[in-house]
Amino acid sequence: MKRAVVCGAGGFIASHLVKRLKRDGYWVRGVDIKDPEFAPSQADEFRLLDLRDMDQCREAVKPAADGPIDEVYQLAAEMGGMGFISTAECEIMRNSALINVNMPQAAAEAGIKRYFLSSSVCIYRDMAIGEAEMSEDEAYPAHPDNEYGWEKLFAERVAFAYGRRYSMAVRVARFQNCYGPEGTWTGGREKAPAAICRKVAEADDGGFIEVWGDGTAVRSYTYVDDLVDGIVRLMRSDLEVPANIGSPEYVSVRELVDTVIGHSGKQVEVRYIPGPVGVQSRNFSNARIYSLGWQARTALREGIGVTYQWVEQQVRDRLATAGNGQRSAEAGEQ
Ligand code: NAD
Repeated sequence: MKRAVVCGAGGFIASHLVKRLKRDGYWVRGVDIKDPEFAPSQADEFRLLDLRDMDQCREAVKPAADGPIDEVYQLAAEMGGMGFISTAECEIMRNSALINVNMPQAAAEAGIKRYFLSSSVCIYRDMAIGEAEMSEDEAYPAHPDNEYGWEKLFAERVAFAYGRRYSMAVRVARFQNCYGPEGTWTGGREKAPAAICRKVAEADDGGFIEVWGDGTAVRSYTYVDDLVDGIVRLMRSDLEVPANIGSPEYVSVRELVDTVIGHSGKQVEVRYIPGPVGVQSRNFSNARIYSLGWQARTALREGIGVTYQWVEQQVRDRLATAGNGQRSAEAGEQ
């Protein structure tokens, strides 16, 4: 039986990854600074640790009762949508960087054989609509749009440096936007799909929602189960270079919003307002991850249907708890 440590297991993608590794027969230790928000962790052991601290990173990778840890999946980060990313630059640059300098050191000291790092397509420069596909190598010369992207690029380099020094197999995935149930949907760190689902779920039939930007920005959204499958395939592969993982279905924000509204069965007017939207366009090669037999299996329409239902239920539960029909007060982040 393989033993894995999943960092960030109190969060969205890593909690789904824990479920997948358990299904694959692993013994799993989940680590996070907070407990999972929506469902108890399925990890065999869940440790509350602050991975900015070196000693706590050492604690995270210490052997399990019946043997050493084989694999570390590092997904812990200061994470959020564009609203968060544009206002929490210092937290991102400091906290995520501390995690990503300490964890490879702790993993190398512990003799970990395989180390996974979750990077992001935010490491790439902005693109024009209609521009040809960009490959992983075109990350350089680097010109990320925001500090979150710069920290990820630095984290990739740290991980690979430790991999070279300590013969630890390092695997790096650059995720496109990920969405699905049990992701942050309120509070300021939610990303566009969950934020739009929440706004539509909260809107009256015949009412309106506000969305940042003019709706023309182009993105691809990857359903969480597909992304997790990509992580697992990459980790078990011989691919020693970063790999993009994302759905090839690129849509405008307007199309995303219309898909959500379509699932709601409501008439909802959309008002596009100024706000932090990030880059204009994305179009990335998936050739590397495709070479491992991976492909996104969930169409946006299908995945948004599942996600909308889940967010709608959260909104209903919150209204029931509040008992007074109060709507969420926060502006909503995308
Ligand atoms: P998330 O915020 O749900 O999960 C991140 C987890 O890291 C959180 O549970 C948080 O508590 C934990 N964490 C933060 N600081 C910590 C610390 N000091 N010690 C221990 N744990 C700490 O985010 P997510 O969407 O699941 O993202 C997971 C990873 O994937 C992140 O590295 C993120 O940057 C990357 N990523 C996500 C997306 C996306 O669309 N969700 C896209 C690209 C990259």
